[in-house]
This record gives sequence, structure tokens and C-alpha cells, in this order.
Amino acid sequence: MEEYLEQLMEKVVEKNPGEKEFHQAVREVLESIEPVIKKNPRYQKEKILERIVEPERVIMFRVTWEDDNGEIHVNRGYRVEFNGAIGPYKGGLRFHPTVNLSILKFLGFEQIFKNALTGIPMGGAKGGSDFDPHGKSESEIRRFCESFMMELFRHIGPNTDVPAGDIGVGTREIGYLFGTYRKLVNRWEGVLTGKGINWGGSHIRPEATGYGATYYLIEMLKKFHNKKDLNGLKVAISGSGNVAQFASKKVTELGGKVVTLSDSKGTMYLPDGLNDEIWNAVYEIKALRRGRLKEVADKFDLDFYENKKAWEIASKEGDVDIAFPCATQNEIELRDAKMLLDAGVTLVVEGANMPTTPDAIEHFMENDVIIGPAKAANAGGVAVSGLEMSQNAQFTYWSPEEVDRKLHSIMVNIFNTCVTYAEKYTDDSKNLIAGANMGGFVKVADAMIEQGIY
Ligand code: NDP
Repeated sequence: MEEYLEQLMEKVVEKNPGEKEFHQAVREVLESIEPVIKKNPRYQKEKILERIVEPERVIMFRVTWEDDNGEIHVNRGYRVEFNGAIGPYKGGLRFHPTVNLSILKFLGFEQIFKNALTGIPMGGAKGGSDFDPHGKSESEIRRFCESFMMELFRHIGPNTDVPAGDIGVGTREIGYLFGTYRKLVNRWEGVLTGKGINWGGSHIRPEATGYGATYYLIEMLKKFHNKKDLNGLKVAISGSGNVAQFASKKVTELGGKVVTLSDSKGTMYLPDGLNDEIWNAVYEIKALRRGRLKEVADKFDLDFYENKKAWEIASKEGDVDIAFPCATQNEIELRDAKMLLDAGVTLVVEGANMPTTPDAIEHFMENDVIIGPAKAANAGGVAVSGLEMSQNAQFTYWSPEEVDRKLHSIMVNIFNTCVTYAEKYTDDSKNLIAGANMGGFVKVADAMIEQGIY
């Protein structure tokens, strides 16, 4: 079996040269689903793995736009429609200079299993552009979004592919993208999620990923630490974008002490934890003004460590119980894992996608640190996006309380699925990474088999 998976992995590397993030994501899934493949030879016979690592469709296009000085710029746009077996393709759009096919394929691949875990019929996809929104004017952002949608519109639809936001794509960008789509097709339809609340968006969507990951964390505490809340626990959070903002808010509400927040320029240390005043400033500066976190630190006379990661600062400043990465991929490397372990971390909950490198994961697991994997823990965002699709399809509206209740119950179900699969196939209920991969995989694989050979 190991040989079959190893050979498959070699083929993936050979066929997708240089795509290291994609290789990393595939390897993680292949390694953890081995017991399922062993017990169900049908998956191997039907070549499900060979099929599932190949995107159903990859769209790559030119995006040309004009800046405020009349200069013309050319960016590259992408949409990777990875797997549509269980529902319309669904996944975010990322605008960031680091975007390339490898990153989008890793994200699209992960999205297949994450979406399956939510229990809502959604396939996996991801897209975006290497466009850098930092420092661009409002009009430049709008012109870029219009040009991006001029090509994307022909590939998407409410029953085909429903993109959402991700890094660099928030409600503002979704607005420009949606407006352009609507003009082009002359239909109001739920083709994008993360819309404004007055025009088809769902309550709790901005909060969903951060809140959802915190609900998942609470389930981890209940099951493994016999604790119902975060009282007395110190939590190191990275990032200060959408996920970090609402994770830090919910962690604080549930009694935890958030000791760090960060952005790409450095880390802010919070010796007394977060309060409403600081949170409002973070939200104002990062979400509304798209400024620097250092401005918040300066305003409240807090220490800001330039170019330092949250893990280093939290570990240096004292003990820390939980690491909650909410910024970007591979942000916890082996040396960070070692520091966090020495500082007392026993749980890691992944708010960002693939934030922990494979050697860091190995080090954590060898030392009994339990990891709540992104695929499961950060599925709250896409779950509420699925609820947004349902509301749009029915032309209806659910209250914030109703959506939050649904989100909570979805996160509890996801956690239970991870534990069930981990127990059934690995005899280790703490192996939530394997549980999440297996739970998502089985659902999609069975659907693919039932739908025939394609
Ligand atoms: P945002 O763009 O709102 O925030 C990203 C944050 O991470 C910012 O604070 C940014 O700093 C920081 N950051 C980005 N790149 C780096 C880097 N290379 N080094 C250090 N810090 C960095 O994105 P989100 O909060 O929406 O997303 C964060 C993560 O969560 C991503 O991995 C995303 O894929 C994942 N995710 C998000 C979901 C959502 O609903 N929002 C759903 C599921 C997953 P700066 O402001 O300086 O750029």
C-alpha cells in the first residue's frame, strides 16, 4: 500500500513540476488516508486517488487594467475547478502577489475535503490573481475587479461555480465583482458569496471562519482537556485580517487571553489580553482602512516587534497554551513549533490554510500536541457561504442568531466526524488531521464512484 501511494506521489510531482505547495497538500492527504484505502480496495481499483489529484478544469487568463496615471498593467487570473462531485465548485478568490498555480491548486485541493466535511453540497475550487491590492486606490481596485470578472463570468454560475473572498478579497471586492457579473449576464443570482448584507449576503459570514474555528477549539478542549471554555488560557494568534479579527473576538468572549496579533510587518504583544477598545481599533485599521497593525500598537502603547512572528514573541514573553495561526500557509515552521512547545503549547487550531509545515506537525504530534487541522477547523467560513447560497436560492433571509446556531452545529458535527474517522481507522482519537482527511475523502470518493467514470 505504501508503495502504491509513494508511486502515486511521485507521479504527482513529475506531472506538476515545481508546485511545491500542491505536492505538500497532496502528500498530507495521501499519508493520512492510507488506512481507508487499505480497507476499501475499491478506491484503488476505481483509480479514485489518480482522479482526485487532477483538477477537473483549470482556467488561466490575462487581466489587463489601467492605473490612475493611465499606465496599463497586466496580471494573471486563475480559477481552479478541482472537484464537482458533491456540488457546485466552491472556494475563494485570493488577490496577492504570491498567488500562482501551485498555491491555488493546493488551496483548491484542500477545499474539496473541507467542503465535504460541512455536510453542505459544495465541490472544491480556488482562484485569484497575482494582483497586489496594497497601496492601490479605490478606483484601481474597482477597475481590476471589473477586468477580472470580464473573463471569469463565462466560467461561473450559481449551479456551476460560486467563488467567494479570501486574502485580499473582502466585501468591497466581492461588490465590484458581483456588479460586473450582474451587468454582463443581466441576472441577479447568488454567483458569489461574501456579499453585502443588503444585497444577498448572509449574516455571520465575516465572523464565520474565526468564530467557527473557535467553536472547533472548544470541542477540542471539551474532548481532550475536560474544559468547557477558555478561562485562564493564553492564546497566541497570528494575523490581524478577517480570520484573526473574529477568532480573537470569540476567544476573548469565551474567557481566553489573546497575547498576540500580527501582520506581514510584525507582531503586537498584548500583555493584558484583548479588550473591546483594542479590538475596535484593529478592526477599524485593518478591515476598514487596510492600514498597518503597528498603528494600533502605537495608539495603545503596546510593544510591536518588526518582522517577528507571533510564535517567537508569545514564547519569549512567557507561557502560552494554544497557538491559533490565522495568517497564511507555512507560518509555523519547525523552529516555531519547538519554541511553542517549550512555552507550554498543548493545542494548535489552524485558522489559516496549511499554516503548519510538515516537520512542525510531526514535532507537535510526537510531543502530544493536538492539532485542529485547517480543513476542519476553518470550514466555518465556507459553511456559512453554503448557507448564503441556500438563502439566495430560496430568496430568503436568516437572522444572525439562526445562522450562528447553524454554524455552531456544523462545527460540532465536523469535529465529531474527525474524531469518528480518527478512532475508526487510526485508534487515536487525537489524530484529527487524519480524521478530517478521511472523513472528507470518503464522502467525495463514494460520490465519484456512484457517478461513474469521468
Ligand atoms: P486577510 O487578507 O483578511 O488577512 C490576512 C492576514 O495575514 C493579514 O493580517 C496579513 O497581513 C497576514 N499575512 C498575509 N501574508 C502574510 C505573510 N506572508 N506573513 C505574515 N503575515 C501575513 O485574510 P483572511 O483572514 O481572510 O485569511 C487568512 C487565512 O485564512 C488564509 O490562509 C486564508 O486562506 C484562510 N481562510 C480564510 C477564510 C475566510 O473566511 N476569510 C476561510 C478559510 C480559510 P497584512 O495585512 O500585512 O497583509
